[in-house]
Amino acid sequence: MAVPTQEQVLEALGTVNDPELNKDLVSLGMIKELRVDGGQVSVTVELTTPACPLKNLIKEDVEKAVRAVPGVEDVQIQMTARVRGAKAPAVELPGIKNIIAIGAGKGGVGKSTVAVLTAVGLARAGAKVGLLDADIYGPSIPKMLGIEDQQPFLVGENTIAPVEGPAGVKVISMGLLVDPGRPIIWRGPMIHNVLQQFLQQVEWGELDYLVIDLPPGTGDVPLSLAQSIPITGAVVVCTPQDVALADAVRALKMYQKLGVSILGIVENMSYFVCPNCTTRHEIFGHGGAERAAKELAVPFLGGIPINIHIRVAGDAGTPLTIYDQTDEATRLAVTEFVETLAGQVSRRNATEPAPQALGTQDDGPACGGHGH
Ligand code: ADP
Repeated sequence: MAVPTQEQVLEALGTVNDPELNKDLVSLGMIKELRVDGGQVSVTVELTTPACPLKNLIKEDVEKAVRAVPGVEDVQIQMTARVRGAKAPAVELPGIKNIIAIGAGKGGVGKSTVAVLTAVGLARAGAKVGLLDADIYGPSIPKMLGIEDQQPFLVGENTIAPVEGPAGVKVISMGLLVDPGRPIIWRGPMIHNVLQQFLQQVEWGELDYLVIDLPPGTGDVPLSLAQSIPITGAVVVCTPQDVALADAVRALKMYQKLGVSILGIVENMSYFVCPNCTTRHEIFGHGGAERAAKELAVPFLGGIPINIHIRVAGDAGTPLTIYDQTDEATRLAVTEFVETLAGQVSRRNATEPAPQALGTQDDGPACGGHGH
């Protein structure tokens, strides 16, 4: 019986594509270790995110391809992950590989909830995650994470450490710094300064993903952020009704105008599954966000059901329970959304130029035609 060679196995692995990145695993540098010992093959595949939606499919494809090489008797496959950032690391924030901004056309659609689910979901999968609450006037992240009684502490003359929330997510929010009962009355330039401090004077350390909860609408904050940091991409949260969608589309177009890639649209409160009869009720209609995504040629990241447990977990500051104590349909929908988003981040990094902060470009004013 012929003994397979390393080259033969590598050649076989070169026929396996990462469906999301649409390239083979060998050219993508995802094959990390390959040992061929007689008929025994051991291979390590390094995914571009631990929240890879296609992990099992890729593993099956690798197994099939390797087993097809004559002489192979057994295959051991280790799946690992290392999150990749843009090709050119951002000089502004060198330790942060990806920045995901979560926005919405208006308040109340579940933007902060989605930001929390994203951060906690990615961290649960094994990624290093930060969550920056840029909703300066209405910071709800500390409460949603159950850390509103904590305070960031000074770690240097001008640096503070973020507070650690569920699943080890590092968090900074105005709500952790000021008395939540006191209104914040600040103007544009002050907001810009606070955001700068949140980015530059917080000891974020190494992060695979920094999730930013933007304020609703199209105000100063997205502009300020797009000017000062390279945003990997934005997620737009909306609900299925037409009215809400129109606002979402407006926000999405503004991000595009600012040169921010769109990672996709997610439909929150998409449907309701009756806990008694398990029938799916589409309270606000159905399919609007998916249609809008298609028309705008941006990815649709899925739908998150309206679920009493999501609301309760938001009020109680226990987001992890959404992942391990809700009904299976909700759990699956949330996990699928997080994984689809992580896949879009990997795809964006592999296919588009590195993101840039508008302020570092020398091609004119902020909205000077940088849209795609
Ligand atoms: P936004 O940030 O857009 O203003 P929030 O995330 O604060 O919205 O959500 C508003 C309210 O709706 C919160 O009480 C939250 O718990 C609840 N909520 C959000 N999404 C869902 C959902 N899918 N199911 C049930 N309640 C939700």
